[in-house]
Amino acid sequence: MAKYCIECGGELGPFAENGVPRLRCEKCGWIHYLNPYPAAATLTVRDSEVLLVRRGVEPRVGMWCLPSGFEEYEETPEEAAVRETREESGLDVELTGLFSVNYVSETDKRCVLIIYTAVPRDPSATDADLAAGDDATDARFFPLDALPPDIAFVSHREAIEKYRDTLVEDQK
Ligand SMILES: [Zn+2]
Repeated sequence: MAKYCIECGGELGPFAENGVPRLRCEKCGWIHYLNPYPAAATLTVRDSEVLLVRRGVEPRVGMWCLPSGFEEYEETPEEAAVRETREESGLDVELTGLFSVNYVSETDKRCVLIIYTAVPRDPSATDADLAAGDDATDARFFPLDALPPDIAFVSHREAIEKYRDTLVEDQK
């Protein structure tokens, strides 16, 4: 919880704005708005396999998740999704559509997670072209019907399962 104003260093005190409890600087009146962070992820699929990366940092180090991360200030969500996927898996991807927008409260930093479907930019890319980096220690494609049991976030698992169900529906 913030204690001091980032504008003037004054102490923050409780304040209610339209019934919402917030913190406000007692010296200059700056209000500390607490908002969810925008984050982006890709559901990168190749031959009914989805790209996952193994987390090298907390929370949930060692577990698998979609390539994802927080948007930089000057970045669009699309740019963040492509950048995070490249940094964590070494794979250059092309986004193919907006899949879902989710409010995620399962982590300390609450976020709005925007998930895009994607394909490798080079269709001939193989597992040998993957190179885990940044926050990830491994990157692999998993068959959609044989996902690892330890997926780090419910929001990511649900998105993958929803995507898989959509494919099954399309094949009917
Ligand atoms: Zn202040």
